[in-house]
Order: sequence, then C-alpha cells, then structure tokens
Amino acid sequence: MSRTTRNPKLLPCPFCGSKARRVARGCLGGDITLIQITCSARPTQCPVQPTTPTLPRDAAIKVWHARAPRSAPATQTETPN
Ligand SMILES: [Zn+2]
Repeated sequence: MSRTTRNPKLLPCPFCGSKARRVARGCLGGDITLIQITCSARPTQCPVQPTTPTLPRDAAIKVWHARAPRSAPATQTETPN
C-alpha cells in the first residue's frame, strides 16, 4: 500500500493554452500504459489541434511538451564584433 501513483504534470496546449487531455489507449504490459494526449479545445478554437500519437505515457508527455509553437523565424544575421 506504499506505492504511489505518479502523476506527471501536463503543460497546457502550447498553441491555444487549453488544458491537455489524456486519453488511455491501452496497456503494453507491466507498467507501460499507452496514452494519447490531445488538446481539449474544439478544432475551431485551436489553430492546429495538436495531438500526440499513441505512445507509452512518458513518451507521449515528452512529445506533447515538445510541441511548442514555432516562434518567429530567427533570421538574425548579426555578426559579433
Ligand atoms: Zn490547443
């Protein structure tokens, strides 16, 4: 009874700021749970409706967090003096 379930925090959708939603997709066996993380906003509310593929939990969270909006292209060509 000493086992605690870790509940890693999910960052909100990087595109629209809506809450991320975890969808259980099954189990690979052992402690590996397959999940899919989706944006909870409606497709019309989120510009890109980011959704991760179905992956083991840790990988899915990692992929979700890596989905940052592309900022303005860095076209700075300043040369250091
Ligand atoms: Zn979104």
